[in-house]
Amino acid sequence: MDFMGYSAQEPEPALIGEFPATDAALSARLEAIDPEGYARSRNHLDGAVSRLSPYLTHGFISVPDVVTFLQERHGLHTEHKFIFELAWREYFHHAWTRIGDGILSSLRHPPGNGYRTEIPEDLLTASTGVKVIDSAVRTLYGTGYLHNHARMWLASYAVHLRKVDWRIGADWMYGHLLDGDLPCNHLSWQWVAGTLTGKPYLFNADNVERFAPSMASRRSAIDCSYDVLQHIAASDTDVGREAQQPEPIVPPPLLPLPAALDQSSATIPENRIELIHPWNLRSQTGHLRVLLLRDFHQRWPWSARRWAFLQDRVKFKGYQCLAADSSEIPLLLSDVEADALAADHPVYDKALLTVSRVRPVPRQFRNPESFCSSFSSFWHQVNKGHGAA
Ligand SMILES: Cc1cc2nc3c(=O)[nH]c(=O)nc-3n(C[C@H](O)[C@H](O)[C@H](O)COP(=O)(O)OP(=O)(O)OC[C@H]3O[C@@H](n4cnc5c(N)ncnc54)[C@H](O)[C@@H]3O)c2cc1C
Repeated sequence: MDFMGYSAQEPEPALIGEFPATDAALSARLEAIDPEGYARSRNHLDGAVSRLSPYLTHGFISVPDVVTFLQERHGLHTEHKFIFELAWREYFHHAWTRIGDGILSSLRHPPGNGYRTEIPEDLLTASTGVKVIDSAVRTLYGTGYLHNHARMWLASYAVHLRKVDWRIGADWMYGHLLDGDLPCNHLSWQWVAGTLTGKPYLFNADNVERFAPSMASRRSAIDCSYDVLQHIAASDTDVGREAQQPEPIVPPPLLPLPAALDQSSATIPENRIELIHPWNLRSQTGHLRVLLLRDFHQRWPWSARRWAFLQDRVKFKGYQCLAADSSEIPLLLSDVEADALAADHPVYDKALLTVSRVRPVPRQFRNPESFCSSFSSFWHQVNKGHGAA
């Protein structure tokens, strides 16, 4: 069966290969940013978004470097919409550094009772029959990237209409995204579920029609008023799949650290090395080792597409890898003088802290000492005085 112009057995091809792991690709993305177009059209699926996220998540560039570029090139102020969105990223990272694994549990009372602990088969295989949702799942699998609005719609449908525990949905999406980032992803799912702010995010077919006209999904479960949606969201009943669905597709598997990157750590020839890691893959030279924590990736597997992105970066830059369990790091590096850059990544940072001289990660906005439970309190705090670090 042909669905929305592409074969049911294949991922949507549109964005495949759109994210080469190169400095040239990053530069092209930066050069293409159109701040005014962004401010006008960011919420539209075909709007002028930057698609910088895989490069930011993997540390090809830092948030302050993006801001400096935008200020020099376009004279942007810190109140500009683009920089405001980057502040959300830093807010989520602030939360992670302050409450650690707390981001993985509901910060407020979760919706419903005993929501699903597995993704329904039709959702997993992009065959719910709700056009915008099936398209999002196919795009996620086929490209590793989703527009922000598609992420919101997919998460809202999963939690509020299909009664999936937000945490299960978040883990699933995280593994398939090239920009999968635990605080941005899991706290965004909490925002949608209502466990971050107390208010669930709901959307209907009118909303989809406005921001993605070709995906409107009329005559489906989302084609109703917000009053009806609120009623559905407040109940424990799964609306189920639609009467008509496209052929299911096979979800790509999620994998732990692949053998090609799991390189032996037995010998470290230099007595002074610089450790970098998957969240800090900026262009750099020296006695570099890309540290890969097997236990982290065992717990948080990734798609083959994301591993290929990382592997390409390692290959293009000629980096060597150093794979180990977190607990092995102190012994492994006991005879080595090591420098490392932190990442606002508690698991990697903890492992790095067993190594001397960990430099703090560059931030655009300072990191408040105590946890700000809302973005607005964070924004208020970082903008007291001069705000930007
Ligand atoms: C359910 C859900 C899951 C998400 N999971 C992730 C994730 O795993 N990793 C991730 O980086 N972002 C995540 N986001 C946030 C946002 O959707 C993406 O950062 C954005 O869509 C990336 O595309 P872009 O680079 O084209 O964004 P642009 O709109 O061009 O924004 C530029 C940069 O600003 C930051 N940014 C923009 N919007 C947000 C936001 N709402 N929250 C945090 N940072 C933002 C990102 O670093 C982004 O690259 C998620 C959002 C939702 C609703």
